[in-house]
Amino acid sequence: DPRIEGIASSIRVVPNFPKPGIMFKDITTLLLDPKAFKNTVDLFIERYTGKGIDVVAGVEARGFIFGPPIALAIGAKFIPLRKPRKLPGAVISEKYVLEYGTDCLEMHIGAIQPGERALVVDDLVATGGTLCAAINLLERSGAEVVECACVIELPELKVHSIHIVYSLFS
Ligand code: 5GP
Repeated sequence: DPRIEGIASSIRVVPNFPKPGIMFKDITTLLLDPKAFKNTVDLFIERYTGKGIDVVAGVEARGFIFGPPIALAIGAKFIPLRKPRKLPGAVISEKYVLEYGTDCLEMHIGAIQPGERALVVDDLVATGGTLCAAINLLERSGAEVVECACVIELPELKVHSIHIVYSLFS
């Protein structure tokens, strides 16, 4: 799709963030370009319209930027998957392994009804650990995860082979 080149070129790479040796893909420069931002959301809307998706689950924090406009356009509800102790209600939690240590995602109990079809949205997939945790949270609640949609994929860092990842580019 000719729109993808403009999206890719709007993303800035910040060396040595958040620590030495990491080349961080910064999507805030994509957000400064309204055409690239709209094209990004439109590509996902085109892919997921009419697919019977009931819920879009966004991963904190950048899944909260791309997820809601997709949810509104396809007529789905939006669920935030958050870092620990951010959600006020009763939650289920899923720990996952990072390069150093562990992290955790939480989801409100009652946000999902069994059998609902879910789309997970995040900005970037690297090892896949975050998406695995998101999928587990949704499946434990009885949802069927249809796909995980990301703007960027870093295939060289892949650890978890998730067959339902869709990314605009790598
Ligand atoms: P994974 O769990 O797949 O190893 O890492 C993906 C998660 O880390 C995503 O939530 C993503 O937002 C964040 N992340 C890791 N590296 C980058 C990066 O270079 N740029 C951005 N924007 N996010 C990153």
